[in-house]
Amino acid sequence: MTEAETETAAEAETAGEAATVPFRFFGLTVVRTRRLSTSMLRVTFGGEDLRAFASGGRDQSLSLFLPHPGQPEPALPPETAPDWFATYRALPDDVRAVMRSYTLREQRRAADGAGADEIDIDFALHDDGGPACRWAARASAGDRVVILGPAVEDNTAVRFRPPEDTGWVLMWADETALPAAAAALEWLPAGTRAKVWIEVQHADDRLELTTAADADITWLVRDENAPCALDAVRAVPDAELPEGTPYAWIAGESSSVRALRRHLVQERKFDRKRVTFVGYWRRGLSEEQLRERVEEEDA
Ligand SMILES: Cc1cc2nc3c(=O)[nH]c(=O)nc-3n(C[C@H](O)[C@H](O)[C@H](O)COP(=O)(O)OP(=O)(O)OC[C@H]3O[C@@H](n4cnc5c(N)ncnc54)[C@H](O)[C@@H]3O)c2cc1C
Repeated sequence: MTEAETETAAEAETAGEAATVPFRFFGLTVVRTRRLSTSMLRVTFGGEDLRAFASGGRDQSLSLFLPHPGQPEPALPPETAPDWFATYRALPDDVRAVMRSYTLREQRRAADGAGADEIDIDFALHDDGGPACRWAARASAGDRVVILGPAVEDNTAVRFRPPEDTGWVLMWADETALPAAAAALEWLPAGTRAKVWIEVQHADDRLELTTAADADITWLVRDENAPCALDAVRAVPDAELPEGTPYAWIAGESSSVRALRRHLVQERKFDRKRVTFVGYWRRGLSEEQLRERVEEEDA
């Protein structure tokens, strides 16, 4: 979710346009956690607010606001603050809630009269652990967070959008984009041809994926000295790729994403408008440093 979306949501909330606001704040609590593999941890959240949560599925992203250790809840300005994002940023570093981008892995609605609405977020735990990674590793039932997430299914934080005339889909994801890739594969219609590369650290990070698509999935396990994303994709001759107009979705570490996009557009002659690429993190930079870097580059 971009700052622009953050600001738009806050402004629209102030204007009292709740019914048409695409994004809003949700105060949620942790219900449970479950280790999926050596690297992946699933955190399930619940709360009354979820009734208004409306995921568009696929790679639906959201902004997660987390408390610092010792804080009972994330410190945020009131939702009605006029320039919400600027007010948030003006809070002291050690007080202001940690803001990180994550993917909605799954939303489950309560059955009529039974159970409660829930959402899952899958965290890739990394050795370079930043505050979000550390928070997830310690999370337990009752912990409080705030999410800036979708209130309408058709929202701009869903980026996986194959055009109607797509003949086949190419996907690359690392572990941070594995939740998004898994949800996108579940969404793909039966029979869609897909070539998928997923890069993970450990052999047990190969999670079971469910799809009705005709998907050829290659796991690139770094512990097993698998080739990097670019080498793996480059090694496949054109003749072994499905026929028809491709759509590509690539997400994960920024330099891998950039290299793959360049390969697809320059060497494979993919139409650049049919390549969705999203840098989920950049080696050596925290998410706020990455955001500042992008702002500087844009300026
Ligand atoms: C749209 C979007 C959706 C995303 N969805 C998910 C998701 O569903 N699950 C998920 O786990 N992540 C997801 N991410 C990535 C996540 O936001 C980043 O990994 C984030 O940096 C983690 O925050 P942190 O506080 O743990 O580390 P930070 O404080 O941001 O960074 C601390 C250090 O850790 C490094 N680092 C960050 N991530 C990794 C990593 N995976 N491996 C190795 N080093 C790393 C940084 O380069 C930095 O040096 C998503 C990002 C975007 C933009």
